[in-house]
Amino acid sequence: MVDTFKAFIVEKADDRATYGIRDITKDDLPEREVIIRVDYSSVNYKDGLAITGKGPILKTFPIVPGVDYAGVVESSEAPELQPGQRVIVNGFEVGEKYWGGYAQYAGAKAGWVVPLPERFTTWQAMAIGTAGYTAMLCVMTLEEQKIRPGSGEILITGASGGVGSVAVAVLAKLGYRVIAASGRRESQDYLKSLGAAGFVSREELTGKVKPLNKVRWAGAVDVVGGVTLANVLSMIQYGGVVAATGLTGGGDLPATVYPFILRNVTLAGVDSVMCPKPRRIEAWRRLAEDLPGAAIEAVAHTIPLDGIPQAAEDIMANRVKGRLVIDVNA
Ligand code: NDP
Repeated sequence: MVDTFKAFIVEKADDRATYGIRDITKDDLPEREVIIRVDYSSVNYKDGLAITGKGPILKTFPIVPGVDYAGVVESSEAPELQPGQRVIVNGFEVGEKYWGGYAQYAGAKAGWVVPLPERFTTWQAMAIGTAGYTAMLCVMTLEEQKIRPGSGEILITGASGGVGSVAVAVLAKLGYRVIAASGRRESQDYLKSLGAAGFVSREELTGKVKPLNKVRWAGAVDVVGGVTLANVLSMIQYGGVVAATGLTGGGDLPATVYPFILRNVTLAGVDSVMCPKPRRIEAWRRLAEDLPGAAIEAVAHTIPLDGIPQAAEDIMANRVKGRLVIDVNA
């Protein structure tokens, strides 16, 4: 292992957070049970909140942010993880409370580390990243609640973002008729290429919330929350399911109980951070099975380590389509 390596570090002095790329050593890494040579990390919405300081994501300073990374095991104290093995780490408060992926090496607890499915390169793993893995958790949730391709159309909100793009691609591949809700008209060709069969504008879902609306969808994956989620719930058919995982439109939920008590609608929460290891392994296995290779290429752009601050601004300003992969060695 090299003596020093590059890391994007956030520090705090006089109550002000600052960031920069520094040279650090292995001994600077707070966790060292498994040392991973990082190939790629990514920028998720949560990373955007963390770097811009728009959300209280970072719990300790100094810290290397980056909620996910993929690379190769350099050394391991855990017998189940061997040097040379290709792995993914995401969630478990990595990049929030524990040092994350924006560095050439990362230290992890063995319990966080998931073997990379054979099918994926480390770049592809981060083109999918936390957002794509969360999209798969949402798909699994709809399936577990017995939503099938024949049940009716599935709505994806925030469709041109990371979670949304992968949800569109996976559900379309599985044979569902997918309707993409987006605030960006210019995303339509992109979303069509991922498999979207129809479109809804963001404005259609941000009007005054009625207790019940005309039925439109059998299910939904919602990353927006707020008034959008309340409106979506009011439009779900009898027995339908909404997998709710995000809050880009707000953390409140100005809804009524009518969809639940009169239409038997289920609101299913989806958390990826503390998701138990067997379920995350299953989600990555399903991604290997059900996410077309062309979609992985289509959703992601690669940027270098020093592109992180701009990328964080961009994701918060809703200027990012799909996923941003960080090449930590560029
Ligand atoms: P992205 O920024 O990539 O995508 C979010 C999308 O939401 C945007 O592309 C945009 O879609 C839409 N959007 C943005 N701002 C607004 C707004 N003000 N009102 C309505 N729609 C908006 O983020 P990610 O896909 O990485 O994450 C999406 C959400 O899911 C975030 O809130 C994130 O924190 C959450 N998340 C939660 C996880 C969990 O474990 N619970 C795990 C992963 C993500 P368009 O332009 O098409 O309208």
